[in-house]
Amino acid sequence: MSRINVMQPWFGPEEVAAVSEVIASGWVAQGPRVAAFEVAFAEAMQAGHGVATSSCTTALHLAMVVAGVRAGDEVVVPSFSFIATTNAPTYVGARPVFADVDPVTGNLTAETVEAVLTDRTRAVVVVDQGGVPVDLDAIRAVTDPRGIVVIEDAACGAGSTYRGRPVGAGADVVTWSFHPRKIVTTGEGGMLTTPHAAWAQRARRLREHAMSVSAADRHASVLAPAEEYPEVGYNYRMTDLQAAVGLVQLGRLPEVVARRREIAATYAKHIGEIPGLRAVADPAWGTCNFQSFWVEVTSAYPLDRDGLLACLAAADISARRGIMAAHRQPAYAGVRHVPLPVTERLTDGTLILPVFHQMSESEQARVIDVLVGA
Ligand SMILES: *Cc1c(COP(=O)(O)O)cnc(C)c1O
Repeated sequence: MSRINVMQPWFGPEEVAAVSEVIASGWVAQGPRVAAFEVAFAEAMQAGHGVATSSCTTALHLAMVVAGVRAGDEVVVPSFSFIATTNAPTYVGARPVFADVDPVTGNLTAETVEAVLTDRTRAVVVVDQGGVPVDLDAIRAVTDPRGIVVIEDAACGAGSTYRGRPVGAGADVVTWSFHPRKIVTTGEGGMLTTPHAAWAQRARRLREHAMSVSAADRHASVLAPAEEYPEVGYNYRMTDLQAAVGLVQLGRLPEVVARRREIAATYAKHIGEIPGLRAVADPAWGTCNFQSFWVEVTSAYPLDRDGLLACLAAADISARRGIMAAHRQPAYAGVRHVPLPVTERLTDGTLILPVFHQMSESEQARVIDVLVGA
């Protein structure tokens, strides 16, 4: 019996060939492949301009800066998310304000956001948690009239849809992750997309030390023009090696999402017949890529969440505890917040089951057997 991982990236000879070509070209840093990947990704997501970065975390930092979030501002975030969602406002000296989430989707709602708005709220970070599309229009109905920017953390969202379009298509600025735990991977990597040309241009400069002339442009001329540094920037660049992989991976996205949805449908069919388990599902307003297939373990089930995780581990199945809660982490121990009962219930009571492109029927049957037999 072999180990079943919670996630495995899916690569083929095409990625190997793409990386080899970049190495043979002699230009491995940010260059023509990054530019091509930005255009292709932003077009596929119907998201305006793309700015590739070293990770979604660094894209989130740049999103804060271009959205005008400053020290002392309040930024509403779900505690129920990977820690990077809360770290980003902290990087610019803003105060993260935790809001609770919906018990069915695990995402922020208009009500949970409205409950924590103040006249110091500058931005809201909405997350498509585990690939479940957030109801962006409902939240913007609350934030737009107050001039509050919505930043969409779509780290998990590539391939999910919202009201018939890719997630992120309706936000002012969106951030994406290409970590191997996500749907499209470049090893490490991220992207910021925005319909605002000026924001994209500023982010493009900030990720490269805020240099007035890009390294690629300097390289293209024999006598490089003198550059200037109008503001403090960062090195958040992606490499052409990564972008070459990303271009191939982007082409695989429809097939990957179709297969994940097939695996999710099989899980859902079986879990629907097990009292005490509830599986994540498409919301009324969109479709999931099932980046994370999470299951809530309720008191009607014979085991609690940790008990079920132990049973899965005994069968050599590597499931994972559900999404974390940032407000419980020592780094944010001092942050005052409203009660977060749904966040705490979901973070304590959910686990993530294995889903990956190459997962076989017999592997999935092994997981289902444990859920049924526990
Ligand atoms: C994975 C993840 C991130 C961080 O992405 P990196 O590319 O690893 O920096 C941020 N937000 C959410 C919601 C994530 O799931």
